[in-house]
Amino acid sequence: MYTLEELQAIVNKCYRCPLSKTRTNVVFGEGNKNATIMFVGEGPGYYEDKTGRPFVGKAGKLFDNMIGAIGFKRQDTYIGNIVKCRPPNNRNPLEEESKICIEFLRWQVKIIDPDIIICLGAVAARNIIDKNFRITKNRGTWYTKGKFNIMATYHPAALLRDESKKKDAWKDFKSIHNMYKEISERRIK
Ligand code: SF4
Repeated sequence: MYTLEELQAIVNKCYRCPLSKTRTNVVFGEGNKNATIMFVGEGPGYYEDKTGRPFVGKAGKLFDNMIGAIGFKRQDTYIGNIVKCRPPNNRNPLEEESKICIEFLRWQVKIIDPDIIICLGAVAARNIIDKNFRITKNRGTWYTKGKFNIMATYHPAALLRDESKKKDAWKDFKSIHNMYKEISERRIK
């Protein structure tokens, strides 16, 4: 089994899919190596590609505020993406690209071993929960896969595009907080 650092060194030199040709930086992911909650988005955008960090820019700020509102700091959680290199013009990652790159995410999940995985947006949910997942219909529902409690909510970028989604996203974040509390209490008993 790799350490997170060993895996990052491998991913930083990855040329397995065509996204390697257009990237500026690989965005491996960041956060707490022992996180209970892992957030997964679809892929890096413009600012992420420039900086090599996940969820920066306006959407990143909104994400920080939302996790802040349920009592977390970014460094308490782990944040990653389905693909580690930016798809040109922020298009959705293609199925083949996701299929290749998700192997790295699987390793990240194995190493970090979170209890809760939150898919941010439909692309993450379709790759992790169900290929027919519909974000407006199925968001906010908890799924169990092995030891993982998995839920999907809107991607922060979608909330910036359509403010009316924020009410439902807030419900989802409260549900994440409740799940976290439940898991923490189970550990104490
Ligand atoms: S997106 Fe993933 S598989 Fe494709 S080059 Fe980047 S790290 Fe490798």
